[in-house]
Amino acid sequence: MRLFVAVLPPERVVAELDGRVDDLKRLPDAGALRWTERAGWHLTLAFLGEVDDAVVADLGARLGRAAWRTAPFALALRGGGRFGDRALWAGVAGEAAALRLLAERVSAAGRRAGAGPGVDAGRGFHPHLTLARGRGEVGLRPFVEGLGGFSGAEWEVGELVLVRSHLPRAGLQGARPRYEPLSTWPLRT
Ligand code: ATP
Ligand code: MG
Repeated sequence: MRLFVAVLPPERVVAELDGRVDDLKRLPDAGALRWTERAGWHLTLAFLGEVDDAVVADLGARLGRAAWRTAPFALALRGGGRFGDRALWAGVAGEAAALRLLAERVSAAGRRAGAGPGVDAGRGFHPHLTLARGRGEVGLRPFVEGLGGFSGAEWEVGELVLVRSHLPRAGLQGARPRYEPLSTWPLRT
């Protein structure tokens, strides 16, 4: 199954960001982008990719320990950025170093369980919440500018979530993946 590990912002933070995204959707060309669903908004700590059913239990045990070793920390959504003209995202502020440490622990847990991450291991960790995807024909700069000055309420990250991603059937235009949270582990309290 296709898996990733994430931090999910609480509903009040999602609602705040959704307000700003509503404004972005009124910009020219917004209709040509594939906007992510607010119900699935997340910060990916590690993308594990295809994982054998047989290793999921061990993976879960290791993720639980990684969470337990990490104290809760404060985070907020702030501003935005883009990966070329392919992805538009909201950025993070607050204890970004703690988020990075948690991401490293989660990646180590995945590797030790034999569940990746393979692909993103060398890419570095760029904390972001993906808001929209383009195919390169629409410039994302105005949308990044539209996120300028956005500063969401701080929250305390208290858990990590293992999420299964169900990709839409290939060729379905504009279809989006469905994310299914499988398990949640609390950070050390
Ligand atoms: P779609 O692939 O249809 O655009 P998606 O990227 O949200 O949707 P997945 O590909 O299953 O769905 O990815 C799940 C999460 O993992 C997303 O946050 C995505 O950005 C991230 N992700 C996917 N592939 C990688 C990768 N190779 N390296 C790092 N993160 C990745
Ligand atoms: Mg993807």
